[in-house]
Amino acid sequence: LLGREQQERAEAIDRLLTVDFGARGVVRHLYEAAREVAGRPLALAAAETLRAAMAQPGERVVITTGASSQRLGLDPNLGETDGPPGAVALGRALAQGFGAVPVFLTEAHQVESLRAVARAGGLTTTTPEGATRQAQHYGRSSGIVVESFPDDPGKASIAAKEVIQRFNPVAVVSVERAGMNDRGVYHNSAGLNSSPAKARLDYLLQESIDKGIPVVAIGDGGNELGMGLIAEAVRDHTLYGIACRCGCGGGIVPVTRADVLVVATVSNWGAYGVAAVLGMLSGKPGLAHTSSAEERLVRTAADEGYLDTTGYTDYKVDSLPLSVHSAVVRLLESIVTVEMDWQAHLSAPVPADSGP
Ligand SMILES: [Zn+2]
Repeated sequence: LLGREQQERAEAIDRLLTVDFGARGVVRHLYEAAREVAGRPLALAAAETLRAAMAQPGERVVITTGASSQRLGLDPNLGETDGPPGAVALGRALAQGFGAVPVFLTEAHQVESLRAVARAGGLTTTTPEGATRQAQHYGRSSGIVVESFPDDPGKASIAAKEVIQRFNPVAVVSVERAGMNDRGVYHNSAGLNSSPAKARLDYLLQESIDKGIPVVAIGDGGNELGMGLIAEAVRDHTLYGIACRCGCGGGIVPVTRADVLVVATVSNWGAYGVAAVLGMLSGKPGLAHTSSAEERLVRTAADEGYLDTTGYTDYKVDSLPLSVHSAVVRLLESIVTVEMDWQAHLSAPVPADSGP
């Protein structure tokens, strides 16, 4: 059972993850709904779920990411800087801390870019067999797999079964991926159709849920995979939750649910929060993401062509400058590592003269 101090640290992490820097007015409501379902801090719920799934080194965890950006007039295959850094940092924590073999799945056009971000996160692409061997031998892995997933619904439905058969994953994680609504249409948070070129990973999440494989989803706007878990809150508290602007006749709420949904101001932060809690739970605080690693990840992502929400390949994520992300990561790391020794202070004996 979790000690009181760890509970408090987990609460602090969730609070930091949900500070509404952009004053979007959404994160608080979606967080409350997801929190009610989980019944405990969200980063903690996700970390506990993943940790429980990791029975022995060499087991695969599928991590999906790659929000396609859909900026008018730009290539719909381009991705966003929110997602890949979070996926890589969390994948590293799972590989380093528990010997998991991360299998990253994304759009075919983003495979090379995601590999580059993974390298910037200290990870190296290898074969599934190689990564498994490494993990089983050392108890940890730096080897990962990055593959594409089809954007065609028919092929995606088959691929979902194949992925599960081939990798036999113990858990599936989604970081900042849009999900289909009940009409089969993807939307961005502005309520516009973002279906073109989208890998249909919804099928993989659904297949995993059907097979009892734990699914952790991380999102920030309401349109992401997993948000089906809090559909009512997304309808109530987002601008296009009930009616989108693409003409499909639905809203942005995805159908697909998750076992644990982490809602954060920026999806990357949600993933970093889960990594920090994993470090705390396993007594390996070094698993928490660091601000220097964050600088390298975000710069590499932008250099690889991942766009900021503004449509530029700036060193920004969700319009916030890299300095803000580095600071949040530094604070997250501090929450799990700083020892303030309140107990010694509070329980020190009263001086004999009881004066100052
Ligand atoms: Zn629509």
